[in-house]
Amino acid sequence: MNNCLVCYEEIASSFGWGEFLGISKPNPVCETCEHAFQKISGKLCRICGRVWEEISPENRQEDICFDCHRWESDMETAGLLWANRSCFQYNERMKEVLALYKFRGDAILAEAFTNDFKQTYEFFFKKEQRILVPIPLSPERLYDRGFNQSLLLAKQLSPIEIVEPLAKNDSVKQSKKARQERMHQENPFYVTEPQKVVGKSILLIDDIYTTGTTLRMAAKVLKEAGATDISSLTLVRS
Ligand SMILES: [Zn+2]
Ligand SMILES: [Zn+2]
Repeated sequence: MNNCLVCYEEIASSFGWGEFLGISKPNPVCETCEHAFQKISGKLCRICGRVWEEISPENRQEDICFDCHRWESDMETAGLLWANRSCFQYNERMKEVLALYKFRGDAILAEAFTNDFKQTYEFFFKKEQRILVPIPLSPERLYDRGFNQSLLLAKQLSPIEIVEPLAKNDSVKQSKKARQERMHQENPFYVTEPQKVVGKSILLIDDIYTTGTTLRMAAKVLKEAGATDISSLTLVRS
């Protein structure tokens, strides 16, 4: 018997020849959960990957959204992130699932999204031959949680090379100031192993793209350490 990796409900058996012959794997997620997740597709903001139709016309600037336009107009942040792409929308169901994933310590949940995460990677980034860099947790957070969800996501893209040149310091306070101001504050990320990123194209891996500040802060220290260009892939975008 097979249970949904997300809600633990039993998955109605639809045993087919593919499974019998060992060609296809049984679906790890039940139909209810699968239907609740909204995959991102179609025309997107060239930089942040937001669904184009969801950006109101007055917030469009050629092929990017107003948020990205602001990032790109600031000398400090222009070009830090080449492109972000995300797999799913941050809807109610996904919110619940991410909460489980982060706080119940459900490492296995990453496997529920392997296929979709891989597909998004292959569609946008496969040809670019980037090395994967998961966004780190601070040592304290890692100790509390027991695993880094971004590293687990990166591992779903095996056998693509993963490097972990970044570390995070939680004592750098994230204030409620505007994100543009936050970028100018002390960066919580630092590079522990610059030799691993010099001259490399990097794909940052994280669970969620919200304002893009976290990813750009990580991108900034990687660039300063010698990485050539940086994109990001996240499971979800809000
Ligand atoms: Zn389910
Ligand atoms: Zn954008």
